[in-house]
Amino acid sequence: MMTCPVCGHSEMVDKVLDETLAYGGQSLTLHAMRGAFCSRCGEGVWDEESYRRYTEAQEGLIRTVKGDVGADIRRIRKKLNLSQAELASLFGVGKMAFSRYERGESRPPVPLVKLLKLIDRHPNLLSEM
Ligand SMILES: [Zn+2]
Repeated sequence: MMTCPVCGHSEMVDKVLDETLAYGGQSLTLHAMRGAFCSRCGEGVWDEESYRRYTEAQEGLIRTVKGDVGADIRRIRKKLNLSQAELASLFGVGKMAFSRYERGESRPPVPLVKLLKLIDRHPNLLSEM
């Protein structure tokens, strides 16, 4: 029998619930999370699978908020050997747009990111844009 890691109570109740993570104005909800919860203080211990999902989601959320997308865009642009202005004119966005995306000052449109990732995997597509 598991005891509560916080209060030492010996009654932990298995529950399945949704857990919402929030970070830097972004949030996401994990569904069907399983864990054992203390019937006295409410402290919970996720099972192994749910704990892994929780930590992965948390890391992903932090990456998203901190603008790892920007680092990704920079990496792809350098690989394609294009300047920010050249890439901007290819995508039909403002000259400064990629500078702002790469520094995480503004969030690039999702279709643009998807297209860039596609070009990252298939650089020959660039000539067809
Ligand atoms: Zn407890």
